[in-house]
Amino acid sequence: MHKLAIIGAGIAGLTLATRLQGKAALTIFEKSRHPGGRMATRRAGPFEFDHGAQYFTARSGEFRHFLSTHFDATGLQDWQPGTLTLSEREKPYRRPWFEPHWIGVPAMNSFAGALPVREAVEFQAQVTALTDTESGWRLQLHDGRQRGPFDWVVVTAPAAQTSHLLPAELAMQESLHRVRMSGCFSLMLGFQEPPAMPFNAAVVKDSPLAWLAVNSSKPGRTGPCSLLAQSRNDWADANLEQPRDRVTAQLLSALGRLLPELPEPDHLDLHRWRYAATTEPLGLDYLLESDRRLAACGDWCLGGRVEAAFTSANRLADALLALL
Ligand SMILES: Cc1cc2nc3c(=O)[nH]c(=O)nc-3n(C[C@H](O)[C@H](O)[C@H](O)COP(=O)(O)OP(=O)(O)OC[C@H]3O[C@@H](n4cnc5c(N)ncnc54)[C@H](O)[C@@H]3O)c2cc1C
Repeated sequence: MHKLAIIGAGIAGLTLATRLQGKAALTIFEKSRHPGGRMATRRAGPFEFDHGAQYFTARSGEFRHFLSTHFDATGLQDWQPGTLTLSEREKPYRRPWFEPHWIGVPAMNSFAGALPVREAVEFQAQVTALTDTESGWRLQLHDGRQRGPFDWVVVTAPAAQTSHLLPAELAMQESLHRVRMSGCFSLMLGFQEPPAMPFNAAVVKDSPLAWLAVNSSKPGRTGPCSLLAQSRNDWADANLEQPRDRVTAQLLSALGRLLPELPEPDHLDLHRWRYAATTEPLGLDYLLESDRRLAACGDWCLGGRVEAAFTSANRLADALLALL
């Protein structure tokens, strides 16, 4: 059986592993302590925040089939929030919410963690370099450990990080350099006493903020009131290197202009996503150099959403199954 290393335990890496299970000897290397990647959940005392992806769509038959194979109603639910459009200049108005918007239950990151490949993941294992040797690819980890050799390596990190890891002479580098990704700040506010809020989710216009969600109102959440405020992507790009106190103050002030009655939170935190959304995707399902036994996939191939990450990995799995 071929030995295959997958770098990243987000939805792309875990989808690929789920499809290749039993067909290759798999090891998934994940730099953080949890699976899910940007389908993330942050816990702080009693408060809980899905501070990355908010929900996802399942428009294609291939994604719906994958979801129904691996999930039942206990792990995945349709979130139908009362949604407003808020603006600093105009009156709020109700926003219709049509197709199903799926969320992991009880938390967004439990979705990825429920896929049947968790035992193949080595957590807190950041891959810092790949070396091509006669016996296969050797992986260098951040703390000096080494892994391998592997016959195949697939990288599922955001495009810039994938480019950084892969050998500079690869033909696919040119494609990776074409992809553009944008950042996002997630401001997390916890309240022991729930403040009155006229929405479960809000799309924000004319503000540094783009999205608000009462995380604790999502199905299956049990903690006290948690409010998530996400910045616009272009605002994040312009402020990525600002001190976090300044970013926090600016986003809090923007939130105060939208919700002047909001009390002081009991918990406040900020997360910076350097690569959150894909503004210019690759336009191909995946990248593959079969002579070097290297491949790359992820949301950035097809459009920067959870469903795009799934589709990219699922189609790379088809290609690899034909080669392994
Ligand atoms: C703030 C925010 C809001 C979003 N909102 C939505 C939304 O509402 N709906 C939607 O559909 N999508 C949304 N998205 C996008 C969605 O989260 C992503 O499209 C999807 O999760 C990407 O999955 P992926 O597996 O391609 O990448 P990732 O989830 O980024 O997974 C890559 C994994 O690789 C790991 N990794 C990276 N480098 C290394 C390394 N060197 N060694 C080891 N591990 C490594 C990372 O830790 C990560 O776990 C949002 C994203 C953000 C950040």
